[in-house]
Amino acid sequence: MQTYFSEEQLKDKNNKSSEKIFRKCVHCGFCNATCPTYQIFGDELDGPRGRIYLIKDMLEKNKPANEKIVKHIDRCLSCYSCMTTCPSGVNYMHIIDHGRNHIEKTYKRPFKERTIRNILSIILPNVTYFRLVIILTALTKPFHFIFPQEIKEMIKLIPKKFGKKTLPKMQKYFTTSRKKPVARVALLTGCVQKVISPTINEATIRLLNRHGIEVVVPQKIGCCGAITHHLGKENLAYAAFKNNISIWYDEYLRNGLDAIISNTSGCGTMLKDYKFIFRADKDLKKKAKKISELTKDITEYLDENVKLNFVKKKENKKEYKIAYHSACSMQHGQKIHNVPINLIKKTGNEVINIPDGHLCCGSAGTYNLLQSKIAKKLLENKIANIEKIKPEFISTGNIGCITQIANVTQIPILHTIEIIDWYTGGPKPKVLEKL
Ligand code: SF4
Ligand code: SF4
Repeated sequence: MQTYFSEEQLKDKNNKSSEKIFRKCVHCGFCNATCPTYQIFGDELDGPRGRIYLIKDMLEKNKPANEKIVKHIDRCLSCYSCMTTCPSGVNYMHIIDHGRNHIEKTYKRPFKERTIRNILSIILPNVTYFRLVIILTALTKPFHFIFPQEIKEMIKLIPKKFGKKTLPKMQKYFTTSRKKPVARVALLTGCVQKVISPTINEATIRLLNRHGIEVVVPQKIGCCGAITHHLGKENLAYAAFKNNISIWYDEYLRNGLDAIISNTSGCGTMLKDYKFIFRADKDLKKKAKKISELTKDITEYLDENVKLNFVKKKENKKEYKIAYHSACSMQHGQKIHNVPINLIKKTGNEVINIPDGHLCCGSAGTYNLLQSKIAKKLLENKIANIEKIKPEFISTGNIGCITQIANVTQIPILHTIEIIDWYTGGPKPKVLEKL
């Protein structure tokens, strides 16, 4: 793709890197074939190639975003299916991030939209606020009809039941044997996940401790920054990035870290991108690079580093038929697909592929709240495809997908790590009690 940035414009680090990406695009349009929103609307501007043109035009001409551009960019799920398909290696993720950032700086959204986006960017990454919202939501149940649609959608997504915490809150979780730990890792316990599904972090800690790995959870690590980053709220996102980088890097220097573990693929994708985000930052470049390099999805870490001790128990003798839902941030963002499937297979269960498994379930961070109609359509398709293969339960590696899918199907869904934990000596997950 030809570009027309001036020399002056290319002094800006973001223009410079986006220009390189634009030039890789050969207009072939292969990406449209696997883009969920292009499939729904059939409009070039709702596919990756069209969005790339819109962003390029906006940046090159240094023009403010307008309603039309915002509509098509907002409809993008950031699922990165287009990146898996693209034969030229176009990094669409960095282009769409740059586009969203430009929109936030140059476009004034209507009041209601602006307010909802501001509320989401403040509440979701903050565990205390999010807990408070859950309590208030329960108390105000009879008055929910007065809320705007987006808030009602958010309320609908809050699970009716929450997994109970069984592990005490600590900064270090020690191995169960008296031997010296074989490794020391930091775990990102996240924000939303920690509140609505604490069992995922607990399964991760138990499993790692049982296999001789010490787990540290520095108290001041909060949200990875992905929620605010994808809402284009760069000030909030950068505050989270910088906080996390300095705390983990400090821990790495003082006490040593073999890895930073993420058990939510959306967050893992974000952490692995810190090195790009701070590529030109004199103070943080080296630290951010180290943090990204240390980051591993839990399944990736287990596969590369841990010899799992599988334990045969009475309640796990039966062979289950499990549908593996590959979250977009896992398969397209981090390019991890076979690793979790192979780990589940090691438990002796059957893993079946979901038809059209490359397509998003519609969760996509705050997408199901802000673009609920499109998200619902994608969810309907996903559920129909899952039900076709009649699994006994579903497994995935991202809390957003778990919440989205669990909301509309009776088929139990759980995190991959909860299965591995169960088959290596942990408790049977509560959602499978009836199976
Ligand atoms: S990220 Fe997903 S929705 Fe956005 S353009 Fe790419 S394939 Fe389409
Ligand atoms: S597949 Fe890649 S090269 Fe082809 S149009 Fe899409 S982004 Fe451009």
